Parts: sequence; C-alpha cells; structure tokens
Amino acid sequence: MADITVESSAGGAVRSLREQVRGRVITAADEGYDQARVVHNGMFDKRPLAVLQAEQAGDVIAAVNLAGEHGLDLSVRGGGHGAPGYGTNDGGLVIDMSPMRTVRVDPRTKTARADAGATWGDFNYATHAFGLATTGGIISTTGIAGLTLGGGIGYLARGCGLTIDNLVSADVVTADGKFLTASERENQDLFWGLRGGGGNFGVVTSFEYRLHEVGQVFAGPIFYNLEDAPTVLRMFDEFIRDAPEQFGGFPGFQIAPPLPFIPENRHGDTLCLAVVHWAGPIDQAERVLKPFRDVAPIVADGSGPLPYPALNGAFDALYPKGLRTYWKGAFVKDLSDAAIAAHVEHGSTVPEVTCTMHLYPINGACHRVGANDTAFAYRDATYGMVFLAGWTDPAKDTERIQWLRDYYHAMSPYSEPGGYINFMQDDDHGRIRDNYRQNYDRLVQVKRAYDPGNLFRMNQNIAP
Ligand SMILES: Cc1cc2nc3c(=O)[nH]c(=O)nc-3n(C[C@H](O)[C@H](O)[C@H](O)COP(=O)(O)OP(=O)(O)OC[C@H]3O[C@@H](n4cnc5c(N)ncnc54)[C@H](O)[C@@H]3O)c2cc1C
Repeated sequence: MADITVESSAGGAVRSLREQVRGRVITAADEGYDQARVVHNGMFDKRPLAVLQAEQAGDVIAAVNLAGEHGLDLSVRGGGHGAPGYGTNDGGLVIDMSPMRTVRVDPRTKTARADAGATWGDFNYATHAFGLATTGGIISTTGIAGLTLGGGIGYLARGCGLTIDNLVSADVVTADGKFLTASERENQDLFWGLRGGGGNFGVVTSFEYRLHEVGQVFAGPIFYNLEDAPTVLRMFDEFIRDAPEQFGGFPGFQIAPPLPFIPENRHGDTLCLAVVHWAGPIDQAERVLKPFRDVAPIVADGSGPLPYPALNGAFDALYPKGLRTYWKGAFVKDLSDAAIAAHVEHGSTVPEVTCTMHLYPINGACHRVGANDTAFAYRDATYGMVFLAGWTDPAKDTERIQWLRDYYHAMSPYSEPGGYINFMQDDDHGRIRDNYRQNYDRLVQVKRAYDPGNLFRMNQNIAP
C-alpha cells in the first residue's frame, strides 16, 4: 500500500513537471535514461526518478518548486565532473543544465555571460575568438558551474585570480523558486556565498565573468627522471614565490603516457612532471621558463606555443567520462624538505597513468583578495594540492582508494586541515568547517536566509 502511494506521488510529480517545462524530462521508462542519469565519475551508478534537461530558467524554477513540494532529493548538474557524484541520485530529481550552454562575449566591456550548462571548452572557444579568457579549469570538459561555485583554480589564477574573483554577477533560482541576480550591487550576501560556497544557495542559470587578454600561450608538460623529483619540486617552490604572474603551471607525478614527444622507451615509466604555462608575451617564454630547462636533465618536453583553448583540451583524453575516480585535496602553505621527501616516497608509487598528485599555485592575484571578501577562505595558501586516482576496473576499487588515502594521509602533517571543496570526495563532510575556516558561520547565515529547508543538500553541504 505504502509503495503505491509513493509510486503515484512520484508519477504525479513527473507528469506535473512535464506539463510545465520546455526541456526533456527523462525517467527509467524513457530512451536515453542510462546516459542521462550518469555523471563523469563511474563510481556512481544511481537511478533518479527523473532527469530534467533544462532549456531555460523557467524550467529550473518549475523543477525547484516541484522538488520542494514533493520533498524530493534534488541534484543540480553542470558539467557533471564533481568527484562525489552529487550530480545524480537515487529516487530524486536531477536538473541537468547541459542544454543551456550559450556564451555571449562583450569585447567592449571585456565580459562574458555564460549559461550554466557550458563547459570550459565552450567558454574558452567563445572568448578566444576575441583574444580573451578568464581563469578556468585545466580540462575542457569540466563545467563552468561547479568549478566556479567552488572557487576556480586554473593556469590563469596567479595572474587573474580565482574564477570567483572574476565573477561579476550570477542569475540564481533560490529554494523558494525566486529568480534573483547576485552581484556587488544586488543580493550581496548571496553573491558572497556563491563565490566559494558551492551549490548550497540555489541553482545558477548564468554567470557573468570579467575577461583578460589571453590568446596564444606557451605551455605544456616537461618530464624529468624520478630521481630528480626533489630538485624539481624544490626549484618549483622557490620559483613560484615571486615568479611573474603570467606563469601558472604546476608540478606533479605522472606515468608517461604513449605520446609522440616522449621517447618510446620511457612510455610507462613513472616520472616527475612540471606543466608550464606562460600567458605573457611569447618571446619572453624561454627566459621565464629557463629554470625548468636548467634544473635537471629533461626526459621529454611537450611545451610550445599554442592557443589557450588548445591547451585546455590537451589532457581531456586522460580523464574520459566513466573513469572510476577518488579524490582528496588540501591547501599547502610551504613545501618543506620533509614534505618533498614524503611526496617523492608516495608520488613514485602512482599505480596507473590516470593516478596523480598536482600542486596548483594559488598565490599572486589570488592573495590580493581578502580572506573574508568571498567565501573562499584560504587566501594565504600557496598551493591547492589535489590527489586523484582514476581506474577502469571495479575490482581495483579498494586498492586504488587505499593508495590515494595513504598518499593523502602521509601529506597531512605538511598541509592545512582544510582543502578546496572541488577536490573533496563524498566522505569529506567532516571537513566543511575546516575548508571555510572563519567564513563558515557567515555561510550558515546565508544558507539560513536563502535555503532554510536545505533543499540544496546534494553538495559539500553547509547545514542551515
Ligand atoms: C577531469 C577534471 C579536471 C578538473 N580540473 C579542475 C581544475 O583545473 N580546476 C578546478 O578548480 N577544479 C577542477 N576540477 C574539479 C571541478 O572544479 C569540480 O569537479 C566541479 O564540481 C566540476 O563542476 P561541474 O559543473 O563539471 O560538476 P557537477 O558535478 O555538474 O557540479 C558539481 C556541483 O556543483 C553544484 N552545481 C553544479 N551546477 C550548478 C548550478 N548551475 N547551480 C548551482 N549549483 C550547481 C552542485 O552542487 C553539483 O553537485 C576538475 C575535475 C575533473 C573531473
């Protein structure tokens, strides 16, 4: 009897949604359900009641109202890259923003208005046509939405700030179904929370960004022998303290993929990696990047001039949709010798080509924004450190997760308690307060003002 009640209420909800929206509403009975329900991380095999492929803000308003009325779990999905798989759920509603991906550039004001379903590939191609860009992710298939709302770390961060530092305004559907604009002039508390507070406050339907002149860049990966990793990491840490801000690369560990610029006899070897990225004048690249040429013998050098969007798509193939992944992150202030030794011990054990650790520098322009000016609290960190394990065989789940946890725990004495929320996993809820430090209490206040019933709870949740 109870089942029938649930069934008919759910069926009624889906019918009602279909009557109100322009986008497709896909249930288990519809063709395409299996594609519509999955996210990038292959670890999450969930079966929502319905996926709404939103086509306009009105669709989002209808879905938010309906989820509230029926008490449904609500997932909001941009690019679907979120490691904890909150972009799908069991038995609830999913708002998939991916049909909404128009990017409109205004070269006069050097701004762009992008619909929230756009990826960084969509965004970069649109802005590159005008010789412009803003800080975004290093992979082109990542959504602008989730990445922006968490903070936004990328190659351009040292020169242009985090993605949120370039956010001018956002259109948002809040839990009560209202459509608001948040900016420095309107709904300032919401605007503050959106810049780092993740998907806690509403569904963003479009973002407006400030753009910078970026066209051709000099960038790519440089590989070194593992035995030189301590020297390379030490050099990087010293270099990045006062490197020109148009430099934005990162060091890490990487099994050499079978790429043409890597000698064939080194394919499959575990190497130390430095991805370099210079967005300043191309004729200055060699001078700026000299420390990377001089630090140790180079095994393979894939750096060179290329358009910024080409760089953004260069590593996409390493992280295909469906790859099983597990992540951890932490902020780092100083890379001590002991930290470097621990990195070398664990980094040299990366088990496959899709497992890695990267240290993304977030000094320069990121440090010129106050720790309370946006929800993103760690303005004094030098690096956003990410640990990523990716694999395809479900039989390896335990082994790969353990590898990553061992590496992450070994680095804990040398890193901050908090990390970047976009590098957190679904078992990281205990770290929310640490991630936001002094900003946590204010985030709770904003949550209470805009989502007191916690409709938006499928995220790194700030409980009201
Ligand atoms: C291959 C790969 C590379 C990455 N590289 C980088 C990088 O270079 N820099 C970086 O900073 N991060 C990077 N990340 C992490 C990335 O920032 C997060 O995974 C981010 O959540 C992805 O956003 P998304 O829209 O693709 O994901 P989704 O899973 O769609 O969204 C993540 C969460 O954001 C919220 N959300 C999404 N859309 C909306 C919306 N319209 N309104 C309100 N809330 C919304 C929801 O809570 C959702 O669960 C990378 C991730 C991957 C998988």
